[in-house]
Amino acid sequence: MPLSSASAASAHPLAAYGWDDGWAREFAPYGERGLLPGRVVRVDRGQCDVVTPVGLVRADTEFVTPRDPMRVVCTGDWVAVDADGDPRYARRVLERRTALVRSTSSERSEGQVLAANVDHAVICVSLAVELDLGRIERFLALAWESGGQPLVVLTKADLVPDVTTLSHLVQDVETTAPGVQVLPVSSTAGEGVDVFRAIVSGGTSVLLGISGAGKSTLTNALIGEHVMDVRATRDVDGKGRHTTTTRNLLVLPGGGVLIDTPGVRGVGLWDAEAGVGQVFSEIEELAEHCRFHDCAHGAEPGCAVLAAIEEGTLPERRLDSYRKLVRENRRIVAKTDARLRAEMLRDWKLKGAQGKAAMAAKRGNLR
Ligand code: ZN
Repeated sequence: MPLSSASAASAHPLAAYGWDDGWAREFAPYGERGLLPGRVVRVDRGQCDVVTPVGLVRADTEFVTPRDPMRVVCTGDWVAVDADGDPRYARRVLERRTALVRSTSSERSEGQVLAANVDHAVICVSLAVELDLGRIERFLALAWESGGQPLVVLTKADLVPDVTTLSHLVQDVETTAPGVQVLPVSSTAGEGVDVFRAIVSGGTSVLLGISGAGKSTLTNALIGEHVMDVRATRDVDGKGRHTTTTRNLLVLPGGGVLIDTPGVRGVGLWDAEAGVGQVFSEIEELAEHCRFHDCAHGAEPGCAVLAAIEEGTLPERRLDSYRKLVRENRRIVAKTDARLRAEMLRDWKLKGAQGKAAMAAKRGNLR
């Protein structure tokens, strides 16, 4: 009996890392050129660690184009590696299915890809401190925009004094996160961990949150006590030396792949209009019933959004937060557009100057 293509993909050495028929099709032309498929488990100063069917390969990235940070290889990418080359190169990044992008805090307002090919964007929020709903909304906008499915995990649930308080906190977050599962978890008491493990056992998950959000405790709960052993594996680099590599992408014992991001204090939005819309889907739905198509929900007559606030069905905080993120997103888009325009202009001027110099040289030769 012939093997089905599905079982062929699941028998692949990279199946545990998320290799499937889609990636196999995408990769096929590079396989014909003798390249190996691999998934990036770590990126570090222009080099990346790639897990391939022949083991871990440290590769240079030739497609690093500083002018376009979005094209820089990142953890979670699938690449085509020239494993026999010297130096070895990751020659090609396969087209990303999803990408978690934030804007860097720098003045240049560039996009930075935090993780690629993510199915679940897990936002970790600690219940040990007061909830910051605005921050959750911001993470959610980023998560929706990535193309992955957001999930909010409320960690340290055992620190909440009683069940009633806990259910109120969960409700608060649920009204902040329409269409998103909100899961209280106590890593120490083990509550909620099984549900979480089941969710992340399919596909690739990324953990997001500020430091102190309980990400490492959650990771330990998924991986077991030997997380450090799993992360620091000794690998042979191209020159035969042994190096200890920290991986930011791990295969979970119960199935699934986990990408850890360093605790990020601020996540700036990056062209996340659709993501913001999804976080505030109830406001956008209400807005469809406003009398005016371009209603700004300020003082317009027949405004359904203001009516909902009046009735108490929409918290005013949500509208304020929505406005704030929409404004921020417009600002970043405008700034980026301005920067791209400035760079194009500079290129054009440079070419113009080169052209003039060449003309001058020609004239000089003619004289
Ligand atoms: Zn309105």
